[in-house]
Amino acid sequence: MNFDKKLVDISRQAEKDLREIYDRFDEISFNNTQRVMSSFAENRVAEAMFNSSSGYGYDDRGRECLDKIYAEVFGAEAAFVRHNIVNGTQALAIGLYGLLRPGDTLYSVAGKPYDTLEEVIGICGTPGNGSLADFGVKYKQTELINGKEFDFDAIEKELTSDVKVVFIQRSKGYLQRKTLSVAQIGELVKFVRARSNAYIFVDNCYGEFVEEFEPTHVGVDLMAGSLIKNPGGGMAECGGYLCGSQKAVELASYRLTTVGIGGEVGATIGQNKSMYKGFFYAPHTVAQALKTAAFAAYLFDKLGFEVEPSYCEKRYDIIQMVKLLKPDYLCAFCEGIQAGSPVDAYVTPEPWDMPGYNHKVIMAAGTFTSGSSIELSADGPMKEPYSVYFQGALTYESGKFGVMCAAQAVIDRMNKQ
Ligand SMILES: *Cc1c(COP(=O)(O)O)cnc(C)c1O
Repeated sequence: MNFDKKLVDISRQAEKDLREIYDRFDEISFNNTQRVMSSFAENRVAEAMFNSSSGYGYDDRGRECLDKIYAEVFGAEAAFVRHNIVNGTQALAIGLYGLLRPGDTLYSVAGKPYDTLEEVIGICGTPGNGSLADFGVKYKQTELINGKEFDFDAIEKELTSDVKVVFIQRSKGYLQRKTLSVAQIGELVKFVRARSNAYIFVDNCYGEFVEEFEPTHVGVDLMAGSLIKNPGGGMAECGGYLCGSQKAVELASYRLTTVGIGGEVGATIGQNKSMYKGFFYAPHTVAQALKTAAFAAYLFDKLGFEVEPSYCEKRYDIIQMVKLLKPDYLCAFCEGIQAGSPVDAYVTPEPWDMPGYNHKVIMAAGTFTSGSSIELSADGPMKEPYSVYFQGALTYESGKFGVMCAAQAVIDRMNKQ
């Protein structure tokens, strides 16, 4: 791969100017790693816990211990981590179905939840399919003010007695809004607690280990995420987790398996080791992803593109957005990321029709684990302003390389015109 001298020069300058920011990511990673390792030590993690279990999975010490470790590290009373939660959406759905009953209201206070939850809630999809709406659960939402702050006045009015779950998506996901900090979520917890008995449930996808505290540290009742994102550390093959108060986690566990059974069973069929190892790596891997994102923000800013967040802004998730403005540049960016990936680097991504969208989407993912987005990956809808959202990188070096490949591909496309 040949990089233009200009690009190499900006990259060098980037690393000089980002020194302190990188140091901060490393410091957060060290503090989070310390928490993880203390918990491993206190819970006497031992090689025998990596043994496989089958059938009911009774007495799987590895499974029980990892549940405790997740709870401890995330400052929660209880947790369950399972390889057979298929994705983040299922983890979130387990929590929602666990807490909500007919006649209750689910209230989202940070605007629209992640796309895949719309069918779960029943604000789209086919009636009769078993959505929450089918079971008589009502739904309402309040937008963030200017896409960045909770609208406390509106929330005060909407916190009626039928609200059973207050829902917060921490990460902006693929929306045009800011990611919420744990401190902001803490403020909301205090506000809601003073006015309501509702459970507070956080979609924590892409947020784990970005700060030194998680939403459960500031008192939310339940929080969920995916193991092919941050907490799997790039090692877990699949899975999801939920953690929170004893009560909320117990109710959720009845949806994971069934009422009366909960989280006491479940064979781990050889997945324990990669889940432990992933959680051990996770603070470090997240720091690699954060450095890669800040590096990209710097590079593309200097190349004249609008980026969000900017390289010097505080980060609360691992997602980086670059507004590329032209379909050509969006394709070039994704081609560059793909070419700079460890797997399938020879493949050329192309825009394709995604079910449920009225425009094409282009994606780049050359990952060891299919669909893993703690590994370097990018996607963008083929519509104005042709923004790309990308995240991840297992190592900073490979992330930097991938981002430089993307920048070179965009520069080449600009020079053609
Ligand atoms: C990834 C993600 C989810 C869940 O998506 P899955 O693809 O089902 O894992 C939910 N919310 C947010 C904010 C996400 O980033």
